Amino acid sequence: MRSGKQPFQRATATGKKVAVVGAGPAGLACAHRLALHGHDVTIFEARKKSGGLNEYGIAAYKTVDGFAAAEVDFILRIGGIRIENGKALGKAITLERLRKDHDAVFLGMGLQGVNALNTKHEDTDGVEDAVDYIAELRQAKDLGKLKVGRHVLVIGGGMTAIDIAVQSKLLGAEDVTILYRRGAQQMKASDFEQELAQTKGVKIKHWVMPKKVLTKDGKAVGLECEYTAEKKGRLAGTGETFKLKADMIFKAIGQTFVPKPIEDRIALDGGRIKIDASRRTSLPDVWAGGDCAAGGQIDPHLFVSLRRFPWQTFAAISPASGRRTRSGSPRRRRRIKSITWFARSRRAGVASCGRRSARIRISSM
Ligand SMILES: Cc1cc2nc3c(=O)[nH]c(=O)nc-3n(C[C@H](O)[C@H](O)[C@H](O)COP(=O)(O)OP(=O)(O)OC[C@H]3O[C@@H](n4cnc5c(N)ncnc54)[C@H](O)[C@@H]3O)c2cc1C
Repeated sequence: MRSGKQPFQRATATGKKVAVVGAGPAGLACAHRLALHGHDVTIFEARKKSGGLNEYGIAAYKTVDGFAAAEVDFILRIGGIRIENGKALGKAITLERLRKDHDAVFLGMGLQGVNALNTKHEDTDGVEDAVDYIAELRQAKDLGKLKVGRHVLVIGGGMTAIDIAVQSKLLGAEDVTILYRRGAQQMKASDFEQELAQTKGVKIKHWVMPKKVLTKDGKAVGLECEYTAEKKGRLAGTGETFKLKADMIFKAIGQTFVPKPIEDRIALDGGRIKIDASRRTSLPDVWAGGDCAAGGQIDPHLFVSLRRFPWQTFAAISPASGRRTRSGSPRRRRRIKSITWFARSRRAGVASCGRRSARIRISSM
């Protein structure tokens, strides 16, 4: 990618049109593969910039030097892909319209909702959603204007919790503590990420859950917590409580799929889009992938799951075959195939994928 060379060659145009919703890693990877097969792809992206969570959600210290935008440029260079930014499904466009105007539709909309803490006073000033804050930080022109807590608490145990905790430390917070309701083994964040947070001075408290946000004059000043324990496989509070000082509390307890844009037209499974083994949804001409699809989760192995995507089936609309220029060794060709962000971003000094064994190279913010 850095060399500026394009290792892929687009097949002859098939004349088939595919609409992709969302320009995150899932939508971009799908668009690239479809373009490779000679189809014409239009990506409809709600936000001003493309890249999805790579651009808006991942902590700044992980994806440096405009990496997300550079990756989008690289993907577009194959040709046959057009992105319409500021076009949200459910607002500017409808699913029915997309189905009428295209031969197939791919949904890669990610997760746009946030889980609630269900804790008293969680709407108080000083209680923030971690993903929104990171988005604000990623797009901030002047970091000096950003609200930074002195005593920061982060509730959660996944990558978002680690990102916001480390990010807060890098921004100058005096103390940052992650509160997780189970043990270290159950944390979704990899061992490496947990270690990374600790080496950056972040404390991690296990087996605790929030009970009540403590407030003064309408602002958060602390959190009442309760210790937890597993009883017969179920997590429960022990009844023993304690209080922690905080002027900023981040919720990093997971995101949810918001089905409104698909107008109840597509079957869901566990709150996400139901797909079959070929990633086809309950509508015959609509496919889905990435975080918004059931089984996708916050999918650190997105590329792996996309590799299983039956591109030729999807291209049942046309079995045209794309061609990659076969240069270099087979090993090199396999590497080139990994256009997904993390696999390609290590050399740029950014994070690797979230596999437990994976390594993350960090550069300063
Ligand atoms: C804080 C954080 C840290 C993470 N760290 C890691 C990590 O270290 N390693 C790792 O492997 N994974 C990590 N992940 C997970 C990873 O970012 C996601 O799995 C990945 O981004 C999912 O890609 P996606 O394309 O499905 O969704 P997204 O990246 O969310 O992209 C969805 C796109 O669809 C657009 N969209 C949404 N609704 C509409 C609509 N109605 N119309 C049009 N467009 C729409 C959005 O604007 C967005 O651009 C992290 C996630 C978070 C939140």
